Amino acid sequence: MPDLQSFDAAMRECLGERGWLTGPEDAAAQSRDWLNRYGKPPLGLARPTSADEVAAVVRLCAAHDVPVVPQGGNTGLNGGSVATGDGSVIVSLARMNRILSVDSVDFTATVEAGVVLGALHEALADRDLAFPMHLGAEGSAQIGGLIGTNAGGSHAMRFGMMQDLVLGLEVVLPDGTIWDGARALIKDNAGYQLRRLLCGAEGTLGIITKAVLRLFPAPCGRSAALLALADFEAAQRVGALLRARTGEFLAAVEFFGEFGLSLALDHVEELVRPLETAGPVYVLVEIASSIPGIALDDILENALAAAFEQGDVLDGTIAVSEAQRAAFWRLREEMPEGQRLEGRQIKHDVSVPVARIAAFIADASRAAKTVMPGVRINPFGHLGDGNIHFNLSPPQGHDDFDGCEMALSQAVYEAVVQHGGSIAAEHGLGQAKIELADRFRSKTERALMRRIKMTLDPHGIMNPGKVVKI
Ligand SMILES: Cc1cc2nc3c(=O)[nH]c(=O)nc-3n(C[C@H](O)[C@H](O)[C@H](O)COP(=O)(O)OP(=O)(O)OC[C@H]3O[C@@H](n4cnc5c(N)ncnc54)[C@H](O)[C@@H]3O)c2cc1C
Repeated sequence: MPDLQSFDAAMRECLGERGWLTGPEDAAAQSRDWLNRYGKPPLGLARPTSADEVAAVVRLCAAHDVPVVPQGGNTGLNGGSVATGDGSVIVSLARMNRILSVDSVDFTATVEAGVVLGALHEALADRDLAFPMHLGAEGSAQIGGLIGTNAGGSHAMRFGMMQDLVLGLEVVLPDGTIWDGARALIKDNAGYQLRRLLCGAEGTLGIITKAVLRLFPAPCGRSAALLALADFEAAQRVGALLRARTGEFLAAVEFFGEFGLSLALDHVEELVRPLETAGPVYVLVEIASSIPGIALDDILENALAAAFEQGDVLDGTIAVSEAQRAAFWRLREEMPEGQRLEGRQIKHDVSVPVARIAAFIADASRAAKTVMPGVRINPFGHLGDGNIHFNLSPPQGHDDFDGCEMALSQAVYEAVVQHGGSIAAEHGLGQAKIELADRFRSKTERALMRRIKMTLDPHGIMNPGKVVKI
């Protein structure tokens, strides 16, 4: 049992009044996850301002056997950023939010882990540079949290996930030592790829305090279109055609269904139905270039003409203004919010090979409806990389799933495995999916992960109860 009085005093001395908050109201918002499903009240909220302070906090916690929960913007969807048990310390990186440097020769930005993604976008906007990670939570999600979950987002098909955008890291390890690997190198094969190990570790192997990120020339032109299609097979074919016809200009190709659209339209203000023809399936495509004078509308129009000729498109329109382009994206990005406001839901963030998207949706839908007739299915996501958010709402008129949750998820995950997919595509495992990963991944793979965890964190103080059980 830790001596809490001396621990509290030591934390206060280390972090000062603003850096160590222990009142129940101080940590209230940070102690529960974004979906309000998980989180035990912590001993306190640590708000360090430097890697040295983070290291001191971790050493103190280790000495007092107090679990440490790293937290960024707390927008994670699997409960990774909140405590699984009593008596933890949440380490918030919110005050470490400086953009330290931007290098337009290296095309890199060196940032503290608490920099909010949207703030980085804004800071780069007037420098003709871009960090190509985009997701609905970008107004709150932090670079450390995005690396922690190895976030994907809508442009992953073209630019990769966070692991592909991180060149170097500075990390406080579970024993409080600081690993300085914040190098700005694309080619760096001097041993194991430690930075990659931290991408997706969900705070279980250390606390990221600084990152060197890859930048790209900012796009100066964009063209986007929204299409209505007859079914997911047509969407899959159109996705492949758009990839072939728009080549290196393709920035994102997303999909959603009529049910998802109606949820967003019903619950989120200011959204308007975008096309005269109702789905049942929609594809949102965007192409972009950083070279002025490229006829992007012509390139997109030609690609769309081929899709119409192929007989796969029922209706469609190219955005005629920046406002219309933004409106298309809002429809897609408000889909999770629409479903959240509808009431109870079960989320499944999964991926399958791109060529199996339609077959997976058909099989998983059939299986889910066998478990619970009338269950409402909202598959949406990233057509370019096979990431599907296969989210369920109870049948019309029902408030919940009448105890069918486990059976529904089991049916969906079995379909994922049958189609060669992953039970966790871009949101990680957190505390929500540990059991699932033990069930659906090989014993060898899970044992390897446990050995890595035990080697780096033998006392299990770093974000326990996430990713792997020890
Ligand atoms: C509306 C909405 C849309 C979303 N869309 C997407 C999407 O398109 N793609 C996608 O990938 N995700 C998406 N997400 C999920 C979420 O935004 C991402 O998982 C994001 O990466 C979490 O960042 P965060 O700063 O909020 O991290 P948190 O939620 O605070 O933490 C996430 C995990 O990272 C760990 N962590 C946090 N900071 C650090 C650090 N400094 N060092 C080490 N570990 C750390 C935490 O312990 C936790 O395990 C969405 C979420 C919402 C609410």
